[in-house]
Amino acid sequence: MLNIQNRKRVKLSNYQIGRICIVGMVSLVVLNFVLLSIRQKIINEKENSAKLFAENIRTSITVELKKSIDSTGVLKKLFIESDDVFSRDFEILGEIFIRDIKTMSAVYLAPNGIVVKAYPESVYESTIGYDILNDPEKQKDAVRAVLEENTIVAGPLNLIAGGTGLIIRNPAFSDRKFKGFAIAVINWDVFKRNVMTSLYPSLNNYNFAVWKDTDDYKKSDENGYIFSNTSKPVSKNVVIKIEIPGDDWYLAVEPVNGWFNIKDSLIEYLIVVLLFLVINGMVIISQIDNANVYHMLKYDSLTGILSRDAFYSTVDKLFKDNAYSSYDVLVADVENFKFLNSVYGKEKCDEFLKYFAKVFEERGPKGICARYGGDKFVTVFPSENNKGIEYLKNETTVTINNAPIKNVIVKYGFYGDVDKSLPVNLICDRALQAAKSVLHNYDKIVESYNGKFAKKLIKEQMFESAFENAIKTNQFKVWFQPKFDSFTEKMVGAEALVRWVKDDEVLAPSEFIYLFENDGLIVRLDEYVFTKVCDTVKFLIEQNLKPVPISVNLSRNSLYHKGMIERYKAIIQERGIPIEYIPLEITESSSTNNKQIKELSQSLKEVGFKIHMDDFGSGLSSMEILNILPFDELKLDKSLIDYIGDTSGNELLRHILELAHLKELLVVAEGVETKEQLDYLKNYNCDMIQGYYFKAPMSQEVFMEYYKRQIAEGNI
Ligand code: C2E
Ligand code: CA
Ligand code: CA
Repeated sequence: MLNIQNRKRVKLSNYQIGRICIVGMVSLVVLNFVLLSIRQKIINEKENSAKLFAENIRTSITVELKKSIDSTGVLKKLFIESDDVFSRDFEILGEIFIRDIKTMSAVYLAPNGIVVKAYPESVYESTIGYDILNDPEKQKDAVRAVLEENTIVAGPLNLIAGGTGLIIRNPAFSDRKFKGFAIAVINWDVFKRNVMTSLYPSLNNYNFAVWKDTDDYKKSDENGYIFSNTSKPVSKNVVIKIEIPGDDWYLAVEPVNGWFNIKDSLIEYLIVVLLFLVINGMVIISQIDNANVYHMLKYDSLTGILSRDAFYSTVDKLFKDNAYSSYDVLVADVENFKFLNSVYGKEKCDEFLKYFAKVFEERGPKGICARYGGDKFVTVFPSENNKGIEYLKNETTVTINNAPIKNVIVKYGFYGDVDKSLPVNLICDRALQAAKSVLHNYDKIVESYNGKFAKKLIKEQMFESAFENAIKTNQFKVWFQPKFDSFTEKMVGAEALVRWVKDDEVLAPSEFIYLFENDGLIVRLDEYVFTKVCDTVKFLIEQNLKPVPISVNLSRNSLYHKGMIERYKAIIQERGIPIEYIPLEITESSSTNNKQIKELSQSLKEVGFKIHMDDFGSGLSSMEILNILPFDELKLDKSLIDYIGDTSGNELLRHILELAHLKELLVVAEGVETKEQLDYLKNYNCDMIQGYYFKAPMSQEVFMEYYKRQIAEGNI
């Protein structure tokens, strides 16, 4: 299963819930069906064996009965074959029957329906002379026997001689004339006992009951049965008919344990229920998994807001669905995020991102908000009176001050009334370009993308083609900004900063350096500035003006350019100036690997160059660098100086200063603009100060004047 951090946000879609419900319901129906089938199968099996048993009972009953019926057939012959109905044969036969047939208790002869002979006579004496056909109660069966000319078994009945029995009346005819009855009496209790004995031992497994559908018999028990082996009612699942001569009996059989018992199929039941649970469990898990994957793809795992790809597709759909509405895009980019990461640690910075995402989504211009990646966020919303920019005016400072890390600067790029025909990523890129254009720009937090950017592109192309000529005609000028000792406030050095004097306009490096860095022309520009600075130092020495180190900025391209060290060394040697007067300012970059920059700076040091770590504390540097590079001076970026006044900012600066001094580095604070900043820096023993508070960069001419004055005043 997939592991995601903000699982609590995972929600199943209605579609998925529906799917789970359908699978649940269908499998419940199937489960029910299967369980019922199992049950039915067991019942069927039991019914089949019950039927077999019922047939056994029927056989036992009829077999037991047949013996007595057959005996009445023998007696009947006495009427038909012999004229002497009172023959002694009756006595003999009666004796034999009663002795051999256990169920039989008496036999009678009743010529013309009147009993004249009974055996054993002593017991049944009272029945002699009994006129059967005229008995108001019992004549019915006897009359039927005569009319149908068939044996009829009546009972169970209360016998005249006492007890309960079945009475078999077998009518005899001669020349189709009724001659009389041959009668046998069956002892009902013995009959029942005999039948049951013959069924033993199956009786332990089954209950049975026998009943008659007519009322004119003696009911044996309260359940209305004439015959049963239980005192309880017997279910009528399996019922068969027993045809008794002249009568119908019914027989029901049931297993003692009932037709169905869960124990009979416990394993099958368990397997089926388990299968049901497994199937449903798997469906639920797979749906949750799907939801997780979907959620992971859709939402950013750290902040929980939309991910970039989900943002693209959502906005794409939004634009298509609202072809006639206009939209704005606002991109937020955290300044110096890498540095913050190395100072505050990943955890704290993640917390900041989470906080920022929440604020940006909840309090920003209401729209579709997403993490654009890393420290960048984006939101798209309907165009409405510059709502995006309004939000920045009202909210940014408040939100940032309440953040887990204080004083973080966030820069914004705004692209109003976007061109919806462009792909969403390009639209966002435009806003991002605008945001990037104000990174490290201390005065601005937001820039709008507009036609200016297109114009800028043209301007950039023009600049690139003008470069060659600008070098040749000395359009690039070196300006100088002095550095001062924090305590003596004497000038202890300067930094060379290039300017491009183009058509009477003085262009700042921010307008062209990045361009030449992109196309590699910077290598030549840096060397040009380096040469000019060497010339300046040589001039100072020649003029007997006490020189100070004048540092030169080296971009990464220059640093990595093949043969750079030799060329720079040659330039120095040609002019015969001490190498330590031209320190090189380098920056660490996230994209460079530390090993390479370490080797290069080591080689520079071996040649004799002093190395200053520039822009320390800006987005491009990290604390690690203090341990890696062999540099001589640390230049604190202006963004750090701007933290002064804030408690955590003060702390941070103090730590950096302590650490740097521990490593015996000289520290320069750049961009110092106020007395408060100066006092603070002095308090924490910052060695040098560079900034507008003392002096802004000056052209060569102005700087020379200033320089001479400083010497004259003893300030150098
Ligand atoms: P940097 O090396 O950090 O230079 C310091 C920048 O801060 C300079 O901007 C300087 O004018 C400005 N500055 C100094 N004190 C203050 C202050 O108190 N307040 C404010 N707001 N700004 C102050 P500049 O001259 O515009 O240079 C910008 C950047 O261009 C430099 O930043 C450097 O990275 C680059 N650069 C300048 N010259 C060269 C060069 O010859 N070669 C290369 N590769 N880069 C250069
Ligand atoms: Ca610099
Ligand atoms: Ca700097």
